[in-house]
Amino acid sequence: GPRIIDGKAVAAEVRAEMAKKVAAIKSKHGQVPGLAVVLVGEDPASKVYVRNKGAQTVEVGMNSIEHKLSAETSQDELLALVDTLNKDPQVNGILVQLPLPKHIDAELVLNTIDPIKDVDGFHPVNVGRLWIGERALVPCTPTGSVILAKSVAPNLSGMDAVVVGRSNIVGKPMAALLLRENCTVTIAHSRTRDIENVVKKADLVVAAVGIPEFVRGDWIKPGAIVIDVGINRIEGPDGKGRLVGDVNFAEASKVAGAITPVPGGVGPMTIACLLKNTVEAFEMQTGLSADA
Ligand code: NAD
Repeated sequence: GPRIIDGKAVAAEVRAEMAKKVAAIKSKHGQVPGLAVVLVGEDPASKVYVRNKGAQTVEVGMNSIEHKLSAETSQDELLALVDTLNKDPQVNGILVQLPLPKHIDAELVLNTIDPIKDVDGFHPVNVGRLWIGERALVPCTPTGSVILAKSVAPNLSGMDAVVVGRSNIVGKPMAALLLRENCTVTIAHSRTRDIENVVKKADLVVAAVGIPEFVRGDWIKPGAIVIDVGINRIEGPDGKGRLVGDVNFAEASKVAGAITPVPGGVGPMTIACLLKNTVEAFEMQTGLSADA
């Protein structure tokens, strides 16, 4: 059978590595990295994400700074808060939880975050740095996806990789990271012709489509690595909600060499990589590190 990639276990390893680094930074330099998370409004899913981010930040020994603002917060108030956080030396990472209320220009807010504190990696400066191969803060979900692929194939060099989806949050940065790993990268999307045969050529498939079980088992080349970024809630036959990915797991797991499940695959990696980015941001800002 295929190897089921255990995202929960790999994420726990990443967090343990970060806890070690934070402890070393603390004992060597007497400082602790800090992550500020800003939540505007009452979106229930966002509240859960923010709570989990805060808890895991504290768990690895870093400072968590939470700003919970009402849904009526004005754009100017939010921009002023970002400005304050940009200037605060105790804050090494700034994350503004999306989605923002409609009266706020999310792009303007994200572009106001100092790129060196932009732990989501969405700022155009970080996007550009990633593509030209400079040290950058890279979006968390694609970073986690690469770590999972490398957990089963440490050397991705020369592989044919197909990324399905071209969003700025997942698909495009994923393609950039796989290019950096020396894959031959194809980005497939909603206008791609004969997508099934494009995917069939891939040694490594990354699905970030947002359509439940979009990628079918007979699209997968035997032995390929399949990384499923999708998180979709659908109604099961029993009428209860359940989570499925963008890949038909039952079919694809019969063909793939290794595959991530949903849940328990890419999902847990995202926050772990956020913590990793916060440590990275601290090191870039202070010039201090766990090793020296
Ligand atoms: P998105 O909607 O922004 O982008 C989807 C992409 O899929 C688009 O680029 C589009 O071109 C492509 N697409 C749409 N229909 C298609 C079709 N019929 N054929 C081929 N391509 C098609 O979504 P996103 O933000 O990139 O997220 C993708 C999925 O990943 C979602 O299920 C989302 O819930 C999940 N996600 C998971 C995490 C995580 O932490 N694991 C993080 C972000 C997103």
